[in-house]
Amino acid sequence: MPELPEVETVVNDLRDAGLVGRRVVKARVHWPRMIATSSAKQFSRAMEGQQFAELSRRAKYIVASLSNGQGLLIHLRMTGNLRFRDSGTPRDPHEHVVLLLDDDRELRYRDPRKFGRWYLLDDVQEKLGGLGPEPLAPGFTADRLRRIISGRRGILKPLLLNQAFIAGLGNIYVDEALWDAGLHPQRSAESLSDDDVGALYRAIRKVLRRGVRSLGASLGKAQTNFYSVGGRRGRAQDGFKVFRRTGEPCPRCKTPIERTVIAQRGTHLCPVCQVADVGKLAPPQAGWRA
Ligand SMILES: [Zn+2]
Repeated sequence: MPELPEVETVVNDLRDAGLVGRRVVKARVHWPRMIATSSAKQFSRAMEGQQFAELSRRAKYIVASLSNGQGLLIHLRMTGNLRFRDSGTPRDPHEHVVLLLDDDRELRYRDPRKFGRWYLLDDVQEKLGGLGPEPLAPGFTADRLRRIISGRRGILKPLLLNQAFIAGLGNIYVDEALWDAGLHPQRSAESLSDDDVGALYRAIRKVLRRGVRSLGASLGKAQTNFYSVGGRRGRAQDGFKVFRRTGEPCPRCKTPIERTVIAQRGTHLCPVCQVADVGKLAPPQAGWRA
């Protein structure tokens, strides 16, 4: 699933491809459930004539500001992908939303698993207002992380996956950040020392920055893997230390990386670098509070 670095890459690529300033001539929706905020027909009518005024990212959402003041949010979920095609190019059966632009290109949304969603909103805060801080924003400091983590209970990994706690992290970059910080994913949030949170802060920023620089992660070669605009693959997977490296030696201590399941998510860790006192581990069945 695309996480912060992958969505950031898509937004940069859409901008580089000249989407800002383009006007939508015609909008066609081939899978109505993809539009979360209205009927497909209402969506198409509302989009026609709109110009893309600005593009940005918030958490794992692509955010497009439109010339009429509305906001278009796209969440790629598992297998969503955007591409440009010349108008008239035959439609791939997995392309579910097609926007014909005023330069005769079509912006096409392809999504084999169909979990992605489009939201057309008068006020995007309706969807974005409840999200946690952006970990790469200048205002996100180690002290800020200490403040939001203090008083939290339960298992560390699902807390970091919770978008209302911190925005943009998913299974990949949480596993990488916890390895980098030397923290066991089953640690209880309340057992973290100030130094632990400092290490976690630096690790989160490091793995996300590296992910953005590498243009995201494209694992495997299947059509359902992450590709940015135009089918470009990312390279972040080449630098992963633990994610999907089960059995390979830990880059720090050479112990084979292990895979386990924590909070229903496949989790990769080094059993030596990320060891924790039993007293600091949350019980496996412990929940977490949002
Ligand atoms: Zn290790």
